Amino acid sequence: MVIVLNAGVSASRQAAIRREIKQRGYTVRQIEDGERTVLGAIGPAVADPRPFESMDGVDQVLRISKPFKLASRELQRADTVVSVGPIRIGGQRIAVIAGPSSVESREQILECAALVAESGGVMLRGAAFTPYGSPYAFPGLGMAGLRHLREAGDRHALPVVSEAASLDHLDELAELVDVIQIGARNMQNFDLLRRVGGMGTPVLLKRGVGATVHDLLMSAEYLLANGSDAVILCERGIRTFETGTRHTLDLSAVPAVQALSHLPIVVDPSQGAADRATVPPMGLAALAAGAQGLIVEVHPDPKRALSDGPQSLYPSQFEKLMRDIDSLAGVLGMEVARLPLGAAKAAARRPADGGTEVPKVAFQGEMGANSEIAIRRFLERAEPVPCREFRDVFEAVLSGASRYGALPVENSLTGTIHQNFELLLQFPDLTIVAERNIRIVHNLIGRPGATIDDITRVYSHPQGLAQCRRFLSEHAGWQKVSFYDTAGAVAHLAREGRRSDATIASEEAARTYGMRVLRQGIEDNPQNYTRFLLIAADDHPPLAPADKASLVFSTTDRPGALSECLTVFAAHDLNMTKLESRPIPGRPWEYRFYVDVALGPDLQALHDAEAELQELTASYRILGVYSS
Ligand code: PEP
Ligand code: MN
Repeated sequence: MVIVLNAGVSASRQAAIRREIKQRGYTVRQIEDGERTVLGAIGPAVADPRPFESMDGVDQVLRISKPFKLASRELQRADTVVSVGPIRIGGQRIAVIAGPSSVESREQILECAALVAESGGVMLRGAAFTPYGSPYAFPGLGMAGLRHLREAGDRHALPVVSEAASLDHLDELAELVDVIQIGARNMQNFDLLRRVGGMGTPVLLKRGVGATVHDLLMSAEYLLANGSDAVILCERGIRTFETGTRHTLDLSAVPAVQALSHLPIVVDPSQGAADRATVPPMGLAALAAGAQGLIVEVHPDPKRALSDGPQSLYPSQFEKLMRDIDSLAGVLGMEVARLPLGAAKAAARRPADGGTEVPKVAFQGEMGANSEIAIRRFLERAEPVPCREFRDVFEAVLSGASRYGALPVENSLTGTIHQNFELLLQFPDLTIVAERNIRIVHNLIGRPGATIDDITRVYSHPQGLAQCRRFLSEHAGWQKVSFYDTAGAVAHLAREGRRSDATIASEEAARTYGMRVLRQGIEDNPQNYTRFLLIAADDHPPLAPADKASLVFSTTDRPGALSECLTVFAAHDLNMTKLESRPIPGRPWEYRFYVDVALGPDLQALHDAEAELQELTASYRILGVYSS
């Protein structure tokens, strides 16, 4: 049964409800499912909801119709996200696990780990107890292999996954791996499932070659019922009459599983393949089908592999696959999970000293750029970290190299900077924590000693030139040159500019590079504001009490769909401050709607509206609840 609690039930009342459920012979699992708190009551085969319905604090009681209860979406609507060290698997992320079929030697697995990390994989695989269908096949290196796997993973900060083929070596294996794989041949080894479920280590559960989707979910239920809360499912191909391929990769299982279960599902395109050429296309197809990751076999020298050589990718094929996944992810609106740059850097994200350390803030551009000015408006003390591209700002925050990122998202004259909203969607582990509007003042800047009469050439970002058209038209004889960045133009002027050169940029940039402001405020329109956002890891609270939220959704394709969604804001007294539609990349003539709403002191209105929007929309994401 699913027992949904009323919003805002006190902790002591929740405990009392849990006690009462247990007294009636059920085991209880508490789930924070988005905005609702849910208790899963698992127990007597024929459950009677009536005693629970009348309990104080209970909103509703639902029967779970499926035989798998804890794995069911009826119990938990939101996707489960499994954490493996710094890696998260599930939700809108693609995680790529790769490595050889078997660990063959220390050198081999070290080489594999290096190539997996370099190409963008986030976890290392490799069997040490290899359960193949022949007693004469390579049996694996056993515990020695696992120790090599661990060393190779650690060297590249890759968590490791390896198969537990029997109960015999389970405890030792669990000491050395981050994820225990249960292979296709063991999917219904219920003793193994029971034991592994109770161990607390995340599990990768593969579908058996003769198992249905339903069987797979029942096996997952064994793990969950024995205590596990970190199960990743894996489709790897089933046995059909087809012999041209080794197994038939059942990609329709991916959406089927996702409809029935909240657990993440990844696909192994290697096990089913008779030939490595099949692996990349089927891997991409799996992601297009909605898989939240891949597990792929790659070998530095597949021709010499001791197991599964013909299906193992060459390193260059794997690298190409990773590049293709990056392109596909944008179309799918998914983020490709990446390894943090290093544990030490990731630790920089959380101040150990209670926040007295000066946080690093990544921004796009050079020192003196308007984004850098914005940083000081967000934080009294900060260390600005220049980045080349906007994407680099997101990467820096995701990896923990910088605690925050400062991004321009909208200009009052030129409109939204869409790229940054697209990136916010692609990096769901980041959130907005604050917003500032900053007036953009353009200045004519020359070298020290120069006067305005000396100038014959001016360079700046095209936006800088365009926003000062009137001033520039008074100096029609000047040559205008486009530059990639306003502050970069000032740096260039300082480095190699002539006395007759000038740039258009902020006063700050002039000061940073020791240049001189020749004329202040030359922009055509002084009402020139840019809206900046400060982003951080998604567990970071708003910088100050939240008073604004940004969200994005797409609607179903029917008359009135958008207006129904908009009514939700009005019904909850939420003042919409922005609405913008944008084409969805890769899906011509389909649109996403970006909405900003102002919030009152009580965030409940937003939570209520969110719950309704999740029902009404085709897709829904909150980009941040933050202080403006
Ligand atoms: C493997 O991952 O190497 C493996 C043997 O997988 P499966 O259990 O899916 O055959
Ligand atoms: Mn294999």
